[in-house]
Amino acid sequence: MVTITESAYQSILAQAQKDAPVESCGYLLGPDKETATENFPMTNIDHSEEHFSFDPKEQFAAIKYARQQGLKIVGNWHSHPASPSRPSEEDKRLAYDPNILYFILSLAEEKPVLNAFRIAEGEVTEKITLR
Ligand SMILES: [Zn+2]
Repeated sequence: MVTITESAYQSILAQAQKDAPVESCGYLLGPDKETATENFPMTNIDHSEEHFSFDPKEQFAAIKYARQQGLKIVGNWHSHPASPSRPSEEDKRLAYDPNILYFILSLAEEKPVLNAFRIAEGEVTEKITLR
């Protein structure tokens, strides 16, 4: 079962709200691959309202940090400031790792929506509703 702690959720929510209308992004880390306890904030180097890219240096730093802390990469997350919590065609195309989760936080409605997805070969294979 995939879970996210309240503090990790509040962290990504605050970051996404601060960055909106630009998409926000980061990694979610935790003690195992299904428990997100920590947000590792990243810069959306596209500074776009419709897509995001990680900074490779920050990606490396996140992986190094997780290793040092004995944490696993649960997944990456990004926000959809004005669209629903589901992967865009581009999100599916760029989802390179079937072993991690892809969290999408939508701010399109009054109440934020967070879902996590497993994506393999460009297709969603599992959808997990978190908020
Ligand atoms: Zn997206």
